[in-house]
Amino acid sequence: MGRRQPKPDNEGGPTLKDVRLAVMEVDCTLCDRRGSLDRKALVAQFGAGMSFKRLRRRVAMGCARMCHPQGDSCGTRFPCLDTEYSLPPKSS
Ligand SMILES: [Zn+2]
Repeated sequence: MGRRQPKPDNEGGPTLKDVRLAVMEVDCTLCDRRGSLDRKALVAQFGAGMSFKRLRRRVAMGCARMCHPQGDSCGTRFPCLDTEYSLPPKSS
């Protein structure tokens, strides 16, 4: 399904302004961590252009797998992105 694969360190991809949910869930199944983030607070703190790639690194701070010698092997993810991005892109 034409999912784009941004380069590891490129901050492309979805940003906060692409998601309309008031509260976004975040979880790491590998570490058994789970939480929710207030979108408004995030926008206030980082700006609406904050990419989820960067955000993910932020929220995964403290996850041992994120700083693994072999690279980022943390499972932190935003389940809401799966649904947002399974929707067809709006053409307007
Ligand atoms: Zn993790």
